Amino acid sequence: MPRAVKKHAVSASPPAARAKRATSTKRTESNASPATAASPQASYGFTGVQKATLDKLTRLGITRPFDLVLHLPLRYDDETHVYPISDAPSAHDVLVEGRVVECDVKFRPRRQLVCHIEDGTGVLTLRFLNFYPSQAKQLASGSLVRAFGEVRHGFFGPEMVHPRVKTVRDETPLAKALTPVYPTTAGLGQETLRRSIERALKECDLADTLPLATIAALRLPRFDEAVRFLHNPPPDVVLDDLQAREHPAWRRIKFDELLAQQLSMRMHYTKRKAADAPALRPQRTLTQRLLSSLPFALTRAQQRALDEVERDLAQPYPMQRLLQGDVGSGKTIIAALAGLQAIENGSQVAIMAPTEILAEQHYRKFSGWLAAIGLNVTWIAGGLRKRDKQDALHSIASGTTHVAVGTHALFEDEVQFANLALAIVDEQHRFGVHQRLALRMKGTRPGQRSQPHQLMMSATPIPRTLAMSYYADLDVSVIDELPPGRTPVATRLVADTRRDEVVQRVRDACMTGSQAYWVCPLIEESETLQLKTALETYESVQAAFPELRVGLIHGRLKSDDKTAVMAAFQRGEIQLLVATTVIEVGVDVANASLMIIEHAERMGLSQLHQLRGRVGRGAAHSTCILLYQNPLTPTARERLKIIYENTDGFEVARHDLRIRGPGELLGARQSGVPMLRFADLALDLDILDAARDTAERLLRDDPDAAHAHLARWLGGRHELLKV
Ligand code: ADP
Ligand code: MG
Repeated sequence: MPRAVKKHAVSASPPAARAKRATSTKRTESNASPATAASPQASYGFTGVQKATLDKLTRLGITRPFDLVLHLPLRYDDETHVYPISDAPSAHDVLVEGRVVECDVKFRPRRQLVCHIEDGTGVLTLRFLNFYPSQAKQLASGSLVRAFGEVRHGFFGPEMVHPRVKTVRDETPLAKALTPVYPTTAGLGQETLRRSIERALKECDLADTLPLATIAALRLPRFDEAVRFLHNPPPDVVLDDLQAREHPAWRRIKFDELLAQQLSMRMHYTKRKAADAPALRPQRTLTQRLLSSLPFALTRAQQRALDEVERDLAQPYPMQRLLQGDVGSGKTIIAALAGLQAIENGSQVAIMAPTEILAEQHYRKFSGWLAAIGLNVTWIAGGLRKRDKQDALHSIASGTTHVAVGTHALFEDEVQFANLALAIVDEQHRFGVHQRLALRMKGTRPGQRSQPHQLMMSATPIPRTLAMSYYADLDVSVIDELPPGRTPVATRLVADTRRDEVVQRVRDACMTGSQAYWVCPLIEESETLQLKTALETYESVQAAFPELRVGLIHGRLKSDDKTAVMAAFQRGEIQLLVATTVIEVGVDVANASLMIIEHAERMGLSQLHQLRGRVGRGAAHSTCILLYQNPLTPTARERLKIIYENTDGFEVARHDLRIRGPGELLGARQSGVPMLRFADLALDLDILDAARDTAERLLRDDPDAAHAHLARWLGGRHELLKV
């Protein structure tokens, strides 16, 4: 070991108890394992932290002292100033000081500790619903205490619920600076965290990873200055600046974080080109046959995207291309043509969709297109009967299958391809990082470096700047034009009170040969309630339209039944389809020209846009009626206005980004992967731009600095970003 390590008492208990424990633990003991000691990280090992604390830190993603340096405050408490009780503002947490005049355990309405303190200006109630006997003792009559919390004006006058309380003497000094409050986990107190962080700040090397000239040019502070400032803000700093994260110290941290992300993605991008993949040269035999059998010609945008994909597939390294295009822009045919290029070269293709309904639809479409050319399409999903599944698996493993279509069942270990060269993921934002990684690994056999090419498709249009930055590790193709002859969907906003008119409209449409969707209200909180609502909606719609053939589809139907309902709707046997949002992605029935969405005010922008995209797929003039219930919240009103005014998915996405922020917009890619903790892509696009430029420059001119920066920021988490 590099140095003797003293066991450090770490606990969340009040100072008195802590002092006692500290003197009772004189043992010298190391928590660093021998393995750590031998590793090059030895000097980074945790010192003097108890095992239990280490476990809790791990839960916070802290696995090395440097992670503590980067564990920055969530917010700050202002304990530098004591407010008179009579004058304490109630909008935020404040510090008051007073003498306890009374303290009792009350039993009604439930057991609680109720304490009154008085400071000469007024009386404040402190209320504790959970408390320890020691707390009651601390608050004995006559003690002088400081309480920190939010003052609420209750029925019995001002009170604080669960304030942080400290016993003081008259001369106990106030905090000189703002108190940082850290994100934490159960059983890990702020005090413990603060002390561990203090230590880490002393022990870690905080020298800048970036050339000082770079930092200066961006007018950012040095790294050590920034972290010290954020962990220990000086007395004169203004709370609001720090909370808003606009302070230069915060900007430096965000810059560093985004730089690490950009570096990692660019390095992955470069590394991918060094990996092997089958070079699939376009033979233009099968693809030509499919193209000439289509009743339409590709749009210019489709042709451009296809050219890009074709070129990538012919390379001996794996393609990772994101194909973006608004709903209805015609991504599926591009996927089919890409697939044929793989098959022309004697390889297999996998196509995966996030819902069974969509996968099923792809299966039918591909079967239709490819059977005519004499190719085998195999269906694989969770609900398959055992015999059928065995057959499917066998066909995939033996190479009889040319294209396997399915849901995430395609990920399962038992699915082994003879010779997979292209994995296509539709609606990729619905999948998690790990799932996509699993599919990519499918084609990678042990001892073989070759990977399949990957084509990801998304109808959640991400504003271009964001896509280029956030997906810096991918190549992006955009289909920015709809097939000709489509008339934009007309959107109508109708208050629920005018239902009768809507009913008449649906009747008229269906009686003249059109088909319609009736989308049930969304109940996000509960699947059971969602089902109940769907069944009720179905009943009331049936009652309202006795003369129409009404169908119902929802997520809980058995897959055979789902298939049957969708097929009947496709054939026109069902005129009016009552549906939950399961139809949101991908469903394509050209004769459906009217959609009613109930309680549209509950849905998000991209969801509304996706749903609306189910109509307007044929030549007929289509309408989407958004039924809403008053009163509307301001956000709901804004959403409805945006969806009413915009038909272009990119415009809708731009507004969505503004309202919701990119985390939700980008979907599953973020969930489960703590990619960005500090930067906010919606607000920090300027910092992102700077980070992207710097990343490119560093990789070219100063790779050592780039590596040092990545090591500092990502540590062991580097792997997760390589998807
Ligand atoms: P999305 O991009 O939303 O996945 P689809 O691939 O489902 O869109 O295509 C929507 C519809 O448009 C399909 O019925 C498809 O056959 C049709 N389509 C695709 N490309 C064209 C084109 N160039 N001209 C006319 N119709 C097209
Ligand atoms: Mg689609």
